[in-house]
Amino acid sequence: MGLFSFLKEKFSHKDKSSDSILTYDKGLKKAKKAFTDKINDISKDDSIPSNYFDKLEEILIEADVGISLTTEIINNLANTIRENKIKTLHEANEALVSEMFKDYMKDENIKNDITFNQVPTVLLVVGVNGVGKTTSIAKLANRYLKMNKTVMLAAADTFRAGAIEQLKEWGNRLKIEVVTGAVNSDPASVAYTAAKKAKEQKTDLLIVDTAGRLQTKTNLMNELSKISRVISKEIPNAPHETFLILDATTGQNGVIQAKAFNEATKITGAVITKMDGTSKGGILLAIRHDLNIPVRFMGLGETLDDLKEFDINLYLHGLCVEE
Ligand code: GDP
Repeated sequence: MGLFSFLKEKFSHKDKSSDSILTYDKGLKKAKKAFTDKINDISKDDSIPSNYFDKLEEILIEADVGISLTTEIINNLANTIRENKIKTLHEANEALVSEMFKDYMKDENIKNDITFNQVPTVLLVVGVNGVGKTTSIAKLANRYLKMNKTVMLAAADTFRAGAIEQLKEWGNRLKIEVVTGAVNSDPASVAYTAAKKAKEQKTDLLIVDTAGRLQTKTNLMNELSKISRVISKEIPNAPHETFLILDATTGQNGVIQAKAFNEATKITGAVITKMDGTSKGGILLAIRHDLNIPVRFMGLGETLDDLKEFDINLYLHGLCVEE
């Protein structure tokens, strides 16, 4: 039984060879296998078993969709099945996907990319250590360099010597300037120097790395607001974007991190990393539903080109469609 034929129809042969769809399909392989295997296991024939909703609930929770959204999906799906007199499992599953992504489907043409309305545009990057923050910064820099933008990095995570070194290395590889300060120096002063330089040099995009310490929310809040304040002295309205980096493999822990950062500062979008390393694909739906944080980009592998703008249709295709 082919799952989710409406998505299959969305993508022509031409689309299928595009770089984005290939990266999504490859990156979501593990998540797809887990999800479709479980869905297919619900029943051996095409009838809707009496424990359908219990099974679905289990599958969605296991996929990190979160309790609140899972409950909503199940309730809406039960209504749809009743109202449309759905009798077959494959129809129910198609309705499930529509329910899962209803909000996104409404905004099908949503653009997640950064808009460059001001020079420099400043992107602040936050997230706990190890989630793939530095790699994501490099991937984003690479993306905009390829679009012929000029990019500068600021190593304002001054608490870890390793973080500064790693960013410098990426700067060398990408041949872009990295503004640094001494280890344990004031992160805001690094951010200020970088903002001044980026302004002088009319750099299109300044990406500012920040420390991901979550020990106390007040510290985090103070630190991030100080960084934002000094940047905006040089560049009015900056930072224009604050991206939270989340590791898809950390499951519900990612949701807890997102809550903490969201309370400390205004997050304008999430970058979900390591989607290729998880058999659960639902964290982004939980983040969007529970905290109203849109997913802007997705990390689907370790190379520089494995960061893709989030696209709900490509995501659905990667997660659900069996070829
Ligand atoms: P940071 O401490 O948050 O700056 O984390 P790093 O950027 O150093 O990344 C930690 C590890 O995760 C590195 O080995 C990265 O190559 C890896 N990583 C980052 N993003 C992805 C991704 O999307 N997929 C995979 N498979 N690995 C990733």
